[in-house]
Amino acid sequence: MDKSAARAAIAEFLRALGRDAASEPELSQTPERVVDAFADELLRGYTVDLRALFEDGSTLATTPSGIVALRDLAVATVCPHHLMPGLGRANVVYRPGGRVLGLGAIARLVDACARRLVLQETIAEDVVRAFIEHAGARGAYCDVTLVHGCLSARGACQANARATSVVRRGELSEADVLLALGAYEARSR
Ligand SMILES: [Zn+2]
Repeated sequence: MDKSAARAAIAEFLRALGRDAASEPELSQTPERVVDAFADELLRGYTVDLRALFEDGSTLATTPSGIVALRDLAVATVCPHHLMPGLGRANVVYRPGGRVLGLGAIARLVDACARRLVLQETIAEDVVRAFIEHAGARGAYCDVTLVHGCLSARGACQANARATSVVRRGELSEADVLLALGAYEARSR
């Protein structure tokens, strides 16, 4: 990202709103803060090489078996329509093929797919595709549930509405996913 151009654009945006970052003390660092937040945090997913992430964060599995699930991963993203954050969580389930991923690598993968200018549907799609294409997983599943800033703070002003996207592909049945995510155990409680 061209940070100096982005800082100038934020200062210009503030001027268009009738405010002056150069003369108002509380705005003096705002262009820098906004740009750092987007470049270094909210959109940092663009700096992650997903293939390298899998290579570094996985081990060869001689006899891969079973299913692995990781629940309640924190998700932060930015919607491409309004540039507002969406916050929530994701669950991931996969059936390993040739490689088994470290849990930290799975968390970093979801983070890298989410912290971009993407629609929510794309996050789950990208996570599942990465598992199958880069890690050789036999099947993968991801669900993402978010509260969107653009739905809660503006527009329909639905502060409690949560949107869910689900993608499942390969050798992973709906029952496999439910079992791995503890749905049966939750039902019998
Ligand atoms: Zn939006």
